[in-house]
Amino acid sequence: MIDESRQRGIGMTSQRTRERLVQRLREKGIRDERVLEIIRDLPRHLFVEEALASRAYDDTALPIGHGQTISQPWVVARMTEALLEDGIPERVLEIGTGSGYQAAVLARLVPEVYSVERIRPLATQARSRLRALGLHNARVRHGDGFDGWRAHGPFQGIVLTAAPGDVPEALLEQLDDGGRLVAPVGGRDAQELVRYRRQGDTLTREVLDFVVFVPMLGGVQ
Ligand code: SAH
Repeated sequence: MIDESRQRGIGMTSQRTRERLVQRLREKGIRDERVLEIIRDLPRHLFVEEALASRAYDDTALPIGHGQTISQPWVVARMTEALLEDGIPERVLEIGTGSGYQAAVLARLVPEVYSVERIRPLATQARSRLRALGLHNARVRHGDGFDGWRAHGPFQGIVLTAAPGDVPEALLEQLDDGGRLVAPVGGRDAQELVRYRRQGDTLTREVLDFVVFVPMLGGVQ
């Protein structure tokens, strides 16, 4: 799957290009060194088509087919940071596997990652990328993220990388006591990045930022 020549010292994969991305993320307010280090190390160019590889270390979202995008590195960093702020969760659920990049970042930080994707070819491709990188602690399921992944819950962290109009009740139910859920919430054009924290039956909600994600859609494809 991973062509050796794509990993060798060609310009786009160079240390300098990656350092520049990390520098950009620092300028944009990312502070968590663990997250910055993983973004520096992880080969994002292996999560996009070869034709787009030269742009893989730009701080932008890129198309991944099926009308979907790999998230912008800043937003991946921001969400991961928000998830980790109170400590490292044991199990994280991601809704919207897409390219598998966010799942890979999480898999470097937390013991168990469960990710759900509604578009079958994306789920299959992400699964093989994660396997090729040896990230065996990340599991991908083809399914509808509105249902979460009950069999492996409750989760200490949940992250949505597609935007619902409102956070689905089923996902809040699968959030463990003391857990946090980070999600873009709102309409098609722009959303609020919100974080929920659960303390027993009490949920607190705070707005962290403004972001733009693809919509969360029901059903599978
Ligand atoms: N985390 C991804 C971002 C992918 S874009 C990455 O790092 O590349 C969002 C993804 O959410 C798309 O692949 C889309 O198909 C998926 N998605 C949208 N609604 C969904 C749902 N209800 N369940 C699961 N996945 C969904």
